[in-house]
Amino acid sequence: MVTLSNEYLKDIITEYTPYTTQGEVVQSLPCVSELNQNDIGIAVIDLDQNIYTAGTTDLSFSLQSASKVVSLMIALEDLGEEKVFQTVGMEPMGDFFNTISHLEADDVHRPFNPMVNAGAIAICSLIKGSSVEERFERIMTMLKSVLGHDDIHMNEDVYKAERRKGDRNRALAYYMSSTGSVALDPEEALDLYFRINSIQFQVRDLALLGLFFANGGKTIEGGEQLLHPDHLTTIEAIMMTSGMYNESGRFAVNVGFPCKSGISGGIFGAVPGRYGIGVIGPAINPKGNSVAGSKILERLSKDLGLNIFHPE
Ligand code: GLN
Repeated sequence: MVTLSNEYLKDIITEYTPYTTQGEVVQSLPCVSELNQNDIGIAVIDLDQNIYTAGTTDLSFSLQSASKVVSLMIALEDLGEEKVFQTVGMEPMGDFFNTISHLEADDVHRPFNPMVNAGAIAICSLIKGSSVEERFERIMTMLKSVLGHDDIHMNEDVYKAERRKGDRNRALAYYMSSTGSVALDPEEALDLYFRINSIQFQVRDLALLGLFFANGGKTIEGGEQLLHPDHLTTIEAIMMTSGMYNESGRFAVNVGFPCKSGISGGIFGAVPGRYGIGVIGPAINPKGNSVAGSKILERLSKDLGLNIFHPE
């Protein structure tokens, strides 16, 4: 079995750098389109807070769909499972993450799960607060506690770009509103959704987010149980079945721990009781997942024995 070290990760980065030429940096969203296809970085943190990194670790990128886990977390804490899963389902969806057709296909017109765009927008409509600003501040406060530092902010330029280029998401929100399947104020839900997509992270922050889940929903500093253990189980199961969209099956088989991706090319993973992992590689495949990042996670899983389905 391989021992985790900076040198090991450096070798992995060298070996997997050729994968950065596969896939494409998303061009439709200003700011994301400016990311460099050749960048590739990784951070792994264990429960003793030893941090191992390699590659481009100082790159700042927007959280994008990795934020869908954060919004789900807060909605579950605010309302509990029954109410949340009256609003969205928990089934995997075989289509692209921003598809609208599934809202028509489902008998009750609900989004399939909280990890696809429609589901995350519906989840945003549930989060408690008297205004979008207050809801967003609650999310930031929670996220800062989860990460154990204050050094995150919303990128105004990304937020403006999300709004400007957000017609597909608007269509999803207004469609759900029109059927009445999700009781939401479309503009408010979208505004919160755009904001949380625009939170700037570095790869270490992705690893810290994963570490929080790996640590049973407890903060690393102080061990505060911020997330109910039942909600942790639910979120990890949904990440496993839907976090990588219609590649979640392949991830379950080849990586074997809960992960969530975003179109900036970031992926975070939680290896229960062991590691939080963050990878960034802005070139993504047609399903919306970082090509290099996915390959690296597969390799790490094999080398370090991280697949939770593998017998001891
Ligand atoms: N901001 C993007 C959207 O709403 C996020 C999608 C993603 O990261 N998969 O479509």
